[in-house]
Amino acid sequence: MFNKRIKIKELLAVEPQQQEVTVMGWVRTFRNNQFIALNDGSTNNNLQVVMELGKFGDDLLKRITTSASLKVTGTVVPSLGKGQKLELKATHVEILGDCDAEKYPLQPKKHSLEFLREIAHLRFRTNTFGSVFRVRNALAFAVHKFFNEKGFVYMHTPIITASDAEGAGEMFKVTTLPFDNTPRNVDGSINFKEDFFGRATNLTVSGQLEGELAATALGDIYTFGPTFRAENSNTARHLAEFWMIEPEMAFSDLEDNANLAEEFIKYIIGYAMVHCREDLDFLAQRLADEEKQKPQLERSEMGLIERLEFVIQNDFERLTYTEAIQILKESNHNKKKKFQYLVEDWGVDLQSEHERYLVEKHFKKPVILTDYPKDIKSFYMRMNDDGKTVAAMDILAPGIGEIVGGSQREERMDVLEKRMKEMNIPAEEMWWYLDTRRFGTVPHAGFGLGFERMVQFVTGMTNIRDVIPFPRTPKSAEF
Ligand code: ATP
Ligand code: MN
Repeated sequence: MFNKRIKIKELLAVEPQQQEVTVMGWVRTFRNNQFIALNDGSTNNNLQVVMELGKFGDDLLKRITTSASLKVTGTVVPSLGKGQKLELKATHVEILGDCDAEKYPLQPKKHSLEFLREIAHLRFRTNTFGSVFRVRNALAFAVHKFFNEKGFVYMHTPIITASDAEGAGEMFKVTTLPFDNTPRNVDGSINFKEDFFGRATNLTVSGQLEGELAATALGDIYTFGPTFRAENSNTARHLAEFWMIEPEMAFSDLEDNANLAEEFIKYIIGYAMVHCREDLDFLAQRLADEEKQKPQLERSEMGLIERLEFVIQNDFERLTYTEAIQILKESNHNKKKKFQYLVEDWGVDLQSEHERYLVEKHFKKPVILTDYPKDIKSFYMRMNDDGKTVAAMDILAPGIGEIVGGSQREERMDVLEKRMKEMNIPAEEMWWYLDTRRFGTVPHAGFGLGFERMVQFVTGMTNIRDVIPFPRTPKSAEF
């Protein structure tokens, strides 16, 4: 058996009692031909390995370079040096893989996040990305734990879909048709009957519609999977491929939906705070250093940990779109024309500058906005009695903007069919969706939470490209 090792995170917590252990990891630094800082990815804290002078040959010492991989056996002893409780006195050191220091692109110094994106295959080896991806993992686990404890069924919805009616974003086409000599119909359009699935297909933008099918039989379900949007938005919060969590609940209205979303967000943040404290402390420090580079006015008032605690401990602000428009219209920001898009009429979609104003300047906490004008929302959202608004909700988070989009769904067949007609949604193609309304329809609701935006919020990373291992964005799909 090769892998008889103790992970460094576990080792750093034991009492040093001369016990013999084996560790494996990558060299972060090697000082004075004597002290190795060894990291194995289980924690950002390195293990100090001491190689007694004169005990190891020069041939071996020369090969201990940054990022070389080692297997070290030794005894655990109390550390004489500052900063660590224990160290490993090496008795046997084996090089598993050499690392040519001349060619290795990561130096033991600070690199910019932009540079690290170009070597995303190696950035896992930095403290920042080690922490980010351990936190991402904890959050993903917490998602499943939360829903499992509540009795939700984890549902796998398809990635390839034939429906393009969802309207959540531009779609990527999936096809095996050739680019030249593409089969055509008599009118010149592409003949998708010849295509792999015998029809036009796309990558999914959301699992919601299929989620509704499952929820209207199983009760409470959630999805957690990749979604794709071919929108050409080069922002710090949009990806072409991102992961979304979409719960859908039968027998629920908009308020139940908002309650679930708020409880869920607080739960997964709390989970990360308990299980990733070291990583979050590290990321908080990183963010604080980054903030110091900014002008005073742009710095956030709270540190990362404070902000997360604040979100867990306080109720989210809940208000309607109509109330939000009123606040924005009367704000000094609007009067002094500080918005790029001035807020004048009821009915306009909120720009991210407006969302950020509400969250960061006005309420200074997460906000749940409800009851949007029907014309700026999707066909499946439940019509309110005023005939003008729908039972939609968006949750806006400080520093991120929209993190959740959801609604109570229109369960009344006649109202739904009317909306579909108004919005040119082909009802014939959606026969399977409409069947849920035909056969024992129930009030139901759900939402979608963008997982990467959540990871951004918890880690304090400002660019969404830095919270997914291999970002896909316009003109970029490396690795
Ligand atoms: P936005 O206005 O920010 O583009 P949206 O209204 O298109 O968002 P929805 O269709 O409601 O978003 O999707 C649900 C959630 O998925 C959003 O609240 C957000 O957290 C996330 N999301 C949407 N688009 C993206 C994207 N391109 N990259 C990453 N996350 C996204
Ligand atoms: Mn969008």
